[in-house]
Amino acid sequence: MIRIRGMHKSYSTGKVVTEVLRGVDLDIEDGEFISVIGPSGSGKSTLLHAVGGLDSDYKGSIEVDGKDLATLSDAELSGYRNETVGFVFQSFYLLPHLTCLENIALPAVFKRGAQMDTQAANARAKAVLEQVDLAEKADALPTMLSGGQRQRIAIARALFNEPKVMLCDEPTGNLDSKTGAAVIELFRTLNERDGITVIIVTHDPRIADSTPRKILVADGSLTEVDDADPDAEADA
Ligand code: ADP
Repeated sequence: MIRIRGMHKSYSTGKVVTEVLRGVDLDIEDGEFISVIGPSGSGKSTLLHAVGGLDSDYKGSIEVDGKDLATLSDAELSGYRNETVGFVFQSFYLLPHLTCLENIALPAVFKRGAQMDTQAANARAKAVLEQVDLAEKADALPTMLSGGQRQRIAIARALFNEPKVMLCDEPTGNLDSKTGAAVIELFRTLNERDGITVIIVTHDPRIADSTPRKILVADGSLTEVDDADPDAEADA
């Protein structure tokens, strides 16, 4: 589980200090499916990056399965990023000269400890391609795919190391609404079938309404949004 306590994050640009998160607390249980909403610039990505170990420059604590991320060495933190969490972004960040299968197997290159041989990496990449329903695209180049298919390949790459948690920053931001809805359905399947905790930052109220739990980031704090209380997200 993820346990955030008193997390404070500010950015300094020259003499200007922007306080983005002002001492926030949050508990996320294993297997939850959560959307994170809020005005642009409110700190949604900041929160996601810190939970994903991409940013360690904050005050307070983020514990994942009882380990405080701030106490991890650089090597441990990079292991955490590779093995415990999977990232999905608005841009797909696929390498255009590699096939879909090669893109998906990239995390094997960065794996710590026992290296995976190419055969094992390919077998794992094929398994995750099936998980995202694109087995037939193994040898295709990303440029030959639609936006929705490219995002599924990016999701497959994020699944390669069997993460417990998927951290998704506007994953449907570059997709039309129908394709976006299908990507969200894929996350729902990964959550319900495979038990992966899914956290999605989104601007899309339909996506936010479709998740069992919704967190609003605004004015430096986090609020649980209860759908029975329409005022809570009035300015989100
Ligand atoms: P959101 O994801 O909700 O749109 P962000 O977490 O990206 O918001 O950003 C929150 C605030 O922090 C914004 O005001 C943004 O301009 C500022 N910010 C984000 N990253 C940096 C940075 N690297 N340096 C300075 N300011 C930043």
